[in-house]
Amino acid sequence: MLGIMQDQPLLISSVLAHAARHHADTEIVSRTVEGSIHRYTYADAHRRAGRLARALGALGVGFSDRVGTLAWNGYRHFELYYGISGIGAVMHTINPRLHPEQIAWIANHAEDKLLFFDLTFLPIIEAVAPHMRTCKGFVAMTDRAHMPASSKVAGLLCYEDLLERESDGFEWPTFDENTASSLCYTSGTTGNPKGALYTHRSTILHAYASALPDTLDCSARDAILPVVPMFHVNAWGLAYSCPLVGAKLVFPGPQLDGKSLHDLFETEKVTFSAGVPTVWQGLLAYVKQNNLRFSTLSRTVIGGSSCPPAMIKAFQDDYGVRVLHAWGMTEMSPLGTVCNLKTKHLGLTKDEQFGIEVTQGRAVYGVDMKIVGDDGQELPWDGKSFGNLLVRGPWVVKGYFKGEGGDPLVDGWFPTGDVATISPDGFMTITDRSKDVIKSGGEWISSIDLENIAVAHPAVLQAAVIGVAHPKWDERPLLIVVRKPGAQVTREELLGFYDGKIAKWWLPDDVVFTDAIPLGATGKMLKTKLREQFGSHRLPTA
Ligand code: ADP
Repeated sequence: MLGIMQDQPLLISSVLAHAARHHADTEIVSRTVEGSIHRYTYADAHRRAGRLARALGALGVGFSDRVGTLAWNGYRHFELYYGISGIGAVMHTINPRLHPEQIAWIANHAEDKLLFFDLTFLPIIEAVAPHMRTCKGFVAMTDRAHMPASSKVAGLLCYEDLLERESDGFEWPTFDENTASSLCYTSGTTGNPKGALYTHRSTILHAYASALPDTLDCSARDAILPVVPMFHVNAWGLAYSCPLVGAKLVFPGPQLDGKSLHDLFETEKVTFSAGVPTVWQGLLAYVKQNNLRFSTLSRTVIGGSSCPPAMIKAFQDDYGVRVLHAWGMTEMSPLGTVCNLKTKHLGLTKDEQFGIEVTQGRAVYGVDMKIVGDDGQELPWDGKSFGNLLVRGPWVVKGYFKGEGGDPLVDGWFPTGDVATISPDGFMTITDRSKDVIKSGGEWISSIDLENIAVAHPAVLQAAVIGVAHPKWDERPLLIVVRKPGAQVTREELLGFYDGKIAKWWLPDDVVFTDAIPLGATGKMLKTKLREQFGSHRLPTA
């Protein structure tokens, strides 16, 4: 027997329509590429997304067509999220930090029909345009006054002109909630990038779950500034969960330095933010140097790579900002786990609580997870057994766009490529990417644990640990360190810093100092590059 409830598909357009109706005057504030601060409301955004939807139709964009964007976090990008998906076309966000060749490859693979871009990225558009096989037009996300006087790309279209020609009052179409809504390619550190193709249903379920109190705890009383880019897994879903709850949205545009972010946090009374550890490093350094505080910021979610405990401590103890350590990936829309304590932890000492807060946290309802050994057998949740982490759920991919890479699932589970432990309470700790784990004498050493300890040293700005070939043990850890400007520290001092913090056999065999650690397009350390650079380092013989 079927239930007797209304048959209403979960569609992305309904999220913005809800925000426009129930949070009409809630603000969306953007620092624009042109430099000024732009302010409007959910009602304005909804009206303009409707005009955009009409404009897309006029340009020949139809159901399931892909439309690319190369853009910062800003109100026009937000309108594209809704205008494109709202008509059943596919919003394809492209990471502008990729090499132009990769951008062209991705846009061709996706068969993007149009490409919208912020003016900052005009040079990229000029470089890739001749190589784009399916793109019929390029739209500059600006007004007539700021259109480039000349460009190598003929017939550039102007975003505001497109909207001006259209009328208000667009009626969003209704269609199957399993229709593709947006497309995001993984960064492809190995092989070609692969596309995760989200659906309306997966996006809305993810937005609901993200807003829950034990997830990101988003509400209509929040002002939320996603530092995480809208081209990196839909700003971790915040582009949907903010209008879903009616939170004020603050978009930082291209200026992600410590000063610009701190200014916006203060002037817009931001309560919650989100970003990768490398961004917060810059912000914390700026705030410390200038002896500043956060007047309204109460919490921030940090993920994308492991958040060093020293950073969590700095935020919490020095600035009273709670860190929600979270884990996820492009293939998971992205949220998998978030760290929030349970009632039984509230009586623990601060140090004991901190021991839990540094983990990647508990699974959000909608994500099931397990760890397995190399033989595929499930491992116990004892907080000690390391295993390959597998997930499943309604916002986890079941394959990639165009079947790229074949069927990734193992008995219905998606292998994340991460290695983790899970505590009896379900708190998960990522110990490594499986390709970064250091295998020494048949045992595994966690590079993340060793890095976290190194960055807690006051003279260390950044640290990476890689495995280097060893005749007896197969691999041994090598610590690669960037010192803070003006700071001095020796190899011996750094190795001594590990005393009592790890098992003796985990101690790195050597330390090398370098000027910079290469970062990938999503702000993560590029260990593949480090292995090329330092993989043949000769370890001292004991
Ligand atoms: P990419 O395209 O680089 O894979 P993703 O954002 O999808 O971009 O990366 C997902 C991976 O990032 C995860 O599989 C994991 O290895 C790493 N990651 C994400 N969050 C965390 C975290 N909190 N701690 C450790 N690693 C993380």
